[in-house]
Amino acid sequence: MFLTDTHTHLYLEEFDADRDEMIKRAIEAGIRKFVLPNIDHCSLERMTAMHVAYPEHCLMMFGLHPCSVKENWEEELEYIINYSEKYPMAGVGEIGLDFYWDLTYKNQQFTALRKQLSWALEKNLPVSLHTRNAIDETIEIVKEFPGLKGVFHCFTGTMEQANKILQMENFYFGIGGVLTFKNSGLAEVLKHIPLERIVLETDAPYLAPVPFRGKRNEPAYLNYILNALENIYFMSKTDIVNTLQSTTKTIFNI
Ligand SMILES: [Zn+2]
Repeated sequence: MFLTDTHTHLYLEEFDADRDEMIKRAIEAGIRKFVLPNIDHCSLERMTAMHVAYPEHCLMMFGLHPCSVKENWEEELEYIINYSEKYPMAGVGEIGLDFYWDLTYKNQQFTALRKQLSWALEKNLPVSLHTRNAIDETIEIVKEFPGLKGVFHCFTGTMEQANKILQMENFYFGIGGVLTFKNSGLAEVLKHIPLERIVLETDAPYLAPVPFRGKRNEPAYLNYILNALENIYFMSKTDIVNTLQSTTKTIFNI
């Protein structure tokens, strides 16, 4: 019985001091695979180095994060695409729309997203979608690409938004630490989402679950999310893990 952390930035410098021990802790806690999402050209070397160090455990997604979409996004994306050709690729990510921090490159974000969605479709790979203040817009764009599959990473939307995603056959909900936050409302929404449509993720080093909220997150903490799911789905831990793992296999082909 083991789990996959489907969205985790283990290559970031937050883990430089204890990366090997952190991986060991995760494996001992039953989390054996990690899907690493790229951010921009600066993160490529760190990410691929982790895959080289842990080829059995670390899978990679290549993509340009919406917060890194600037004036030169086309060059940046081309660099990432070329770079990716030397490596096994588990998905396109993380990509999406972020209208929370900065709206300067809103139009470029739309174009970069569309370009990366067609890249994923061409390669028959799943996408990991980052959306902030932009979930409805992201859903509309994804619908332009029938046949695409992927995950709405760190889903924290409303029931209405969840319903829209449920209607998209090959799309799933990435659930992490936010589920354990009081007042997030996510548990209420999850009650209406079949377990088969969920995958687990930490988004480490960010979004640590309670009781570590505000501290550095790491894959071993995925078990706190699992405990929270038990209280929503009233199934045995084994059945939950098996369901989650079979969905993860369907999406990422592992
Ligand atoms: Zn992320």
